[in-house]
Amino acid sequence: MKITRRRFLELGVVATASAAVLPVPTLAQGAGPRVVVVGGGFAGASCARGLRHVDPRIAVTLIEASPTFTACPFSNGVIAGLRELSAQQFTYEHVAADGITIARQLATAMDVPGKAVVLLDGRRVPYDRLVLAPGIDIRWGALPGYDEPTAAQMPHAWKAGEQTLLLRRQLEAMDDGGLVVISAPANPFRCPPGPYERASLIAHYLKTKKPKSKLLVLDAKDTFSKQRLFQSAWAELYPGLLEWVPLSKGGNVTSVDGATRTLVTDFGKHQAKVANVIPPQKAGRIAELAGVADRSGWCPIDPVTFESKLQPGIHVIGDAAIAGAMPKSAFAANSQAKTCAAAVALLLTGGTPPTPKLINTCYSLVAPDYGISVAGVYAPSNGQLADVPGSGGVSPSDAPRASRAAEAVLAEAWFRTITGEVFG
Ligand SMILES: Cc1cc2nc3c(=O)[nH]c(=O)nc-3n(C[C@H](O)[C@H](O)[C@H](O)COP(=O)(O)OP(=O)(O)OC[C@H]3O[C@@H](n4cnc5c(N)ncnc54)[C@H](O)[C@@H]3O)c2cc1C
Repeated sequence: MKITRRRFLELGVVATASAAVLPVPTLAQGAGPRVVVVGGGFAGASCARGLRHVDPRIAVTLIEASPTFTACPFSNGVIAGLRELSAQQFTYEHVAADGITIARQLATAMDVPGKAVVLLDGRRVPYDRLVLAPGIDIRWGALPGYDEPTAAQMPHAWKAGEQTLLLRRQLEAMDDGGLVVISAPANPFRCPPGPYERASLIAHYLKTKKPKSKLLVLDAKDTFSKQRLFQSAWAELYPGLLEWVPLSKGGNVTSVDGATRTLVTDFGKHQAKVANVIPPQKAGRIAELAGVADRSGWCPIDPVTFESKLQPGIHVIGDAAIAGAMPKSAFAANSQAKTCAAAVALLLTGGTPPTPKLINTCYSLVAPDYGISVAGVYAPSNGQLADVPGSGGVSPSDAPRASRAAEAVLAEAWFRTITGEVFG
């Protein structure tokens, strides 16, 4: 076939160093300003839909590696045998129905000067503005002994899916009387109350199925989210079964050995029957490739537009972003996604985005019928997202059991609402 100049451009033809001319395949996108979103989780899928909602003229492409999204919120319930993994899984059918082009591919490289994302199959996806929402990656090797093969012995289960099921199967296979150890990382990490909700629900599983067992939580911190509420619930529900060891009392895990399921701290060694290592984390790899992650491994952003402080034209939302006082949660990711979508749509037409206010609520289950929560409101202040004074708070410490049961019901309702909004 004769290749005309027009066809050349459609194929994205580039000249190589040897002056030979090779066609570079380009993903077909709609007409209109092009916004590409990488990552179809709570942040990315929500932002892609938000962009179409705010301005249907925008050609939105969502790049997502997996055909199915597996949600982390409520995955602690899967580990504890309270629900199935299928209840955590969602497809992109309805996202595509909003007129969003979906590239089911891993984004493997960036051409920042050429404003294009490169897919695993080699196709380029050009953009006018880019939104990165890749979630987290594990910092393999940051905890000595914890590498990818070791995660098969000592699962992290901090990305929902196979790892979640592995931890559940290990607990099911353990004899009554075994020692379960969870190691919780230093800040910042995905879902600050997550390790303590997990400890609670594993304790519930042990109490009801293997009551001679013990659960030890080794923590790299002295304080944690909703601490007083968790600790008073543990004293009431799991006395003698669940022990939390803070940093100052030898909780910091300094190395692990997968073969013997041993966790080493400054104060001694613990050999577990089941070990759940929640390791140090960083922004998803594509953020590094795009040059938007700083030395901390996370991505500094402008708190009004979520535009990277390191690369103009690239926005970062969700867990990957440094969002100041906002925690790394699905609720926060969704809230940031909507703010970012509105800002990007305005920037494309030369407008100035207004100063936003963002919200977050995180529910945790301490038992299936015992819920607690923390809420916050955030606004830009000194280049960061800061708590709005006088807003937010946690569940009352002296609430009756009926309130805890009501919060457990609200937690489920929140999960149905957010997943319905993002994927339904
Ligand atoms: C055990 C646990 C319990 C939790 N409970 C709660 C809770 O109760 N409430 C709450 O609000 N939050 C909770 N969270 C936190 C919540 O899961 C995260 O904050 C949220 O998922 C962040 O959304 P995100 O879109 O940034 O990342 P993700 O949801 O992880 O989405 C990232 C997406 O990007 C894709 N991706 C990454 N890189 C690429 C690439 N290069 N190319 C293509 N696709 C890519 C991934 O496949 C993934 O689908 C919990 C987390 C855990 C681990």
